[in-house]
Amino acid sequence: MDPQDQIGEKNSASVYEDRPGEECGLFGVFGCPDAARIIYDGLFSQQHRGQEGAGIATSDSGKIRCLKGLGLLSQVFPSNRASELKGNLGIGHVRYSTTGGGAIAHNVQPLIGDCVDGRWAVAHNGNIVNAHELRRLHQESGALFQTGTDSEMFLHLLAAPEYRKSPKRVAHACEALCGAYSFLIMSRDRLYAARDPHGFKPLVMGRLGGGWVFASETCAFTQIGAEYEREIEPGELVTVDSGGIASTRLSRVGAGLSHCVFEIVYFSRPDSRVFGHNVHQVRVSYGERLAEEYPVEADIVVAVPDSGNSAALGYARKSGIPYEMGFIRNHYVGRTFIMPGHEERASQADKKLAAMPETVRGKRVIVVDDSIVRGTTMRRRVRILREAGARQVHLRISCPPVAHPCYYGIDFPTPDELIASSKSVEEIRKYMDADSLGYLSVSGLLSPFADKRSYCIACFDGAYPIETGCGDKGILDEPEEPTAGYDP
Ligand code: AMP
Repeated sequence: MDPQDQIGEKNSASVYEDRPGEECGLFGVFGCPDAARIIYDGLFSQQHRGQEGAGIATSDSGKIRCLKGLGLLSQVFPSNRASELKGNLGIGHVRYSTTGGGAIAHNVQPLIGDCVDGRWAVAHNGNIVNAHELRRLHQESGALFQTGTDSEMFLHLLAAPEYRKSPKRVAHACEALCGAYSFLIMSRDRLYAARDPHGFKPLVMGRLGGGWVFASETCAFTQIGAEYEREIEPGELVTVDSGGIASTRLSRVGAGLSHCVFEIVYFSRPDSRVFGHNVHQVRVSYGERLAEEYPVEADIVVAVPDSGNSAALGYARKSGIPYEMGFIRNHYVGRTFIMPGHEERASQADKKLAAMPETVRGKRVIVVDDSIVRGTTMRRRVRILREAGARQVHLRISCPPVAHPCYYGIDFPTPDELIASSKSVEEIRKYMDADSLGYLSVSGLLSPFADKRSYCIACFDGAYPIETGCGDKGILDEPEEPTAGYDP
């Protein structure tokens, strides 16, 4: 590989991560001049989906080049660096790694692979639960893996002779995978968009000028002025090239839909349309439902910004209790959720939000947030509200207790770190030092959806939609020992 073609940052740490999946953002362009600039803008509005790494690959005159690195998009692409990438075809990725141990440069996507018939680029969102199994098989036949991600498996499948020789190569490679994947895949003259048959993660397509655009979330289309066309269907592979656009079905269609409900609860941006629903509106309805399920006499409703904003609005509207600003958020504190140590997380969480004594002093306060995972942040929030003079603090959470880890791409810790896996609601209330605690019921969570069975709620009820035969519910083995660093 020409080292100039792929530029990345060095990082000597390298492991096969124990839960190698990602909750990431994707963006792809076919047939639009200056694709890299459009991809940059499309990724920029999806930065909430991943802040650890970013990358863009484009194809120009049959040659694929990729720029990527650790950090926010604006750090990886300062001063218009994306314009170094030419061409009207490209894909991009923002990465949220699910391990707390820090970002690793060689895992940043798009991943690039040089096959005997040319270069490929791939960007992935989700967790492939049989990746470990497949990786072992390929390693036994001599394959050398360069990253610690499950996504790399896809490049190895594309390169394997039995797939390479098939006219349905990309489809067959997808069909070998089990679990959650939304993929954007690029060869030198073609763009592919694929979504697993369960439809775990979102993936949408739109029109921009005479070209096509693809994204994890519709908010990216609004940003660039593209017109939303439709979702990539679960189990669909869309191919775009100079001959036009084509759609094929992957063989496992009919497996049953399992949209990740946590995309709606927390992950996606409120202005996006995800699985056919506006995220903000669903969250408002969750707040309304919470007000019915857990009414309480109080003076004000406050949101934990920004995750609780929409649901708090719903709670206030339904209960008739005034919506107030009880917290101020410092936007310059990074993501606290993935910080490795409890103490570090807690101290950063403290810096992120300040209570407003003028609003809460002497008041009975209802606090609305999207979820409690470990419980670290909410406990501190109750404390600062009390220090600011709140007379009572009533917690309302717009999803059920998160009691089970996720194997399909949401970063939920091991069961012993999940507060609801071992404590009852009353025990959690006591731990939080709250006057009351109410979680949205499972039926409330599913109430906005016509087909309730088409959602994955395994993190709440432990009923994993992908069972044995796919890597023991996707639980991967212990990490491999560190391999040599990868300098792309
Ligand atoms: P904690 O209970 O301290 O682990 O933090 C839970 C808070 O972190 C929630 O209120 C969400 O706003 C946010 N959160 C929940 N799940 C995730 C996730 N997978 N990644 C990042 N933030 C999350």
